[in-house]
Amino acid sequence: MIHVSNLNKKFGNLHVLKGIDEHIKKGEVVVVIGPSGSGKSTFLRCLNLLEYPTSGEIVFEGVSITDKKNDINKQREKMGMVFQQFNLFPHMTVLENITLAPIKVKNMKKEEAEKIAFRLLNRIGLEDKAQNYPNQLSGGQKQRIAIARALAMSPDVMLFDEPTSALDPEMVGEVLDVMKELASEGMTMVVVTHEMGFAKEVGTRVLFMDGGKIVEQGTPEEIFTNPKHPRTKDFLGKVL
Ligand code: ADP
Ligand code: MG
Repeated sequence: MIHVSNLNKKFGNLHVLKGIDEHIKKGEVVVVIGPSGSGKSTFLRCLNLLEYPTSGEIVFEGVSITDKKNDINKQREKMGMVFQQFNLFPHMTVLENITLAPIKVKNMKKEEAEKIAFRLLNRIGLEDKAQNYPNQLSGGQKQRIAIARALAMSPDVMLFDEPTSALDPEMVGEVLDVMKELASEGMTMVVVTHEMGFAKEVGTRVLFMDGGKIVEQGTPEEIFTNPKHPRTKDFLGKVL
């Protein structure tokens, strides 16, 4: 589904991603772990071109999205993204947040977009919040809405950047539950997280990033019970 070859990203003189090669298959739940500043967010943001790579190629569903000749907007619609800070539009209701992109980007009729929105809200148990504004919701509710908003575009892959890091501990579970359900339905997911329990339970593959490189990767079992690289061992020693 996603082929990344020799991906490099520099911010000025700062070389943040150093030649990443990675292939993500349909249905995989790839969990990305690693120390702060190692380039996890930049990697995720490059995947859907929120950051434009300095060099290298990203092919998504057979289309090179780093090739400026291609229509990347069509491809981007198929990638949902969920951020640590939710990024809901504060002046819009929950329903408007969820229906905005389907209406504006996909030219969907309002009625149809709302039907889909209510189906998604029902799934995450927040149907009664449709007319509320984001500031009337808890952090966990906001993040579940942000996930629903991304799903409203029927993406083929969902990218999560530390989706539970800004939440109070008691709300982490409700967001992880929605993500687990998505994974069990076969959604392809790339998840940057510090939730090692989630990585073990749901991840099909774990990537350990350090210093702008994927230093080690394997099944959760391999990474968590038998890490090979000293930097992986050191990191896991600190977080587990
Ligand atoms: P992580 O998500 O693993 O904590 P990031 O990808 O956010 O790491 O950041 C990797 C490095 O790139 C850090 O040194 C960070 O300061 C730098 N960086 C990230 N985004 C930018 C930017 N827009 N401009 C300049 N430097 C950036
Ligand atoms: Mg980050």
